[in-house]
Amino acid sequence: MFYDNIDWKSLKTIANNLLKELFPICRSITGDGVRKSLSILKEISDFNLFEIPTGTQCYDWTIPQEWSIKSAYIKDQDGNIIVDFDNSNLHVVNYSQPIDKIITYDELAKHIHTLKNLPDAIPYRTTYYNSDWGFCMSYNKFKNLDKSKKYYVKIDSNLKTGSLTYGEKFITGKTDNTYLLSTYCCHPSLANDNLSGMVLWTLLLKILSEFQTNNSYKFVIAPETIGVIAYLNQNETEIKKVNGGFVITTVAGKGKFGYKNSFLENSIIDRVVKKTFQELNQKYIHYDFDIYGSDETHYSAPFFRIPIGTICKDKYYEYDYYHTSYDNLDYISAESLIETLKLYILSIEKLEMNFKYKSLIPYCEPMFGKRNLYPKIGGQIKQSVAEGNDYDINEMDCMLWLMFYCDGEHDILSISEKTNLPVNHLYRVAEKLHEHKLLKKMR
Ligand code: ZN
Repeated sequence: MFYDNIDWKSLKTIANNLLKELFPICRSITGDGVRKSLSILKEISDFNLFEIPTGTQCYDWTIPQEWSIKSAYIKDQDGNIIVDFDNSNLHVVNYSQPIDKIITYDELAKHIHTLKNLPDAIPYRTTYYNSDWGFCMSYNKFKNLDKSKKYYVKIDSNLKTGSLTYGEKFITGKTDNTYLLSTYCCHPSLANDNLSGMVLWTLLLKILSEFQTNNSYKFVIAPETIGVIAYLNQNETEIKKVNGGFVITTVAGKGKFGYKNSFLENSIIDRVVKKTFQELNQKYIHYDFDIYGSDETHYSAPFFRIPIGTICKDKYYEYDYYHTSYDNLDYISAESLIETLKLYILSIEKLEMNFKYKSLIPYCEPMFGKRNLYPKIGGQIKQSVAEGNDYDINEMDCMLWLMFYCDGEHDILSISEKTNLPVNHLYRVAEKLHEHKLLKKMR
């Protein structure tokens, strides 16, 4: 499989460069920030871009006007700059209406967002579907504002008829068994949520594009919620064929690995991820499916019902710096991102190897000896493997269990779950037994 044939070192360099280049861009659910970000990602691995016009009805939602912003700041009456969009794009509530006005402290305070529990951090706030404007700043800066002064607020933004942008790529495998890999691209300068997800998604696309895969894969990169709803609306028939998938988000933090289960308690996605953690003996935090989350709620809605899981490192909602200016490039690392990418690759590999086989000698154990598949001297099985033995005890286990379970119903993953034998060993041995005409490959 592809894990051993991946140049992890060069992927880490690409990840590092992408994180640095993309972090400063002011993204939103529409506009040139998303377009510029997607064009940078396309240079690593190409995908197709789609524009959905403002006003397009997508199920219960309507594509909003396109938002752009040139500058924004607050000055006090003496001309001192209080906050400036040029220093952090988090200072402006995303999708703010334009404003150019002198106002009192009390009026200003109604439009200011702070975080008392992280008094030096700038929070991230949005107002996509409510015509409003606002600024975000540190609590410590806000509490020191002079209440007797007047303030000049300026947001040079624009809302106009335009479009919403998303990207998609279909990788055609040997079978039409299809899995989805989706991420969102609408957050401004926030690193773990979700620049890290955009970068991991791109590396995954690059890897899977370079190998001939057994399964087919649908890659989607779209603004969270409205972008995925638009995507589903435009691709309804195709997406219903998808067997399962992942929403890739918050993958490069300093904390623990986590897994958010799909809405089905034991879907194929949940099972390959659990198996991956188990085989690596890697600890992780298990999160049950929850309606508060990301785009899995749309992909798994009653009409689609696609089981979606999320492997993360410092899951959204769970880390203190979530949706604040502290979720920056110091909080994440390319190393962590690559570690999470490896978990995705190992899980996807298990989907790649998960064939069903049927025994061609279902009446009893086959005679391995006459096919040169059995140790020549009897009596060694279940004894400690002495040095110099010319057979692999693990391979023998795999052969016996495979010939026992391969009835056309059990797949490789379920045999691994029953026997604790590694999926890749079972697959390798199953392919060998297939060559020796002891097993027939089903799918
Ligand atoms: Zn978020």
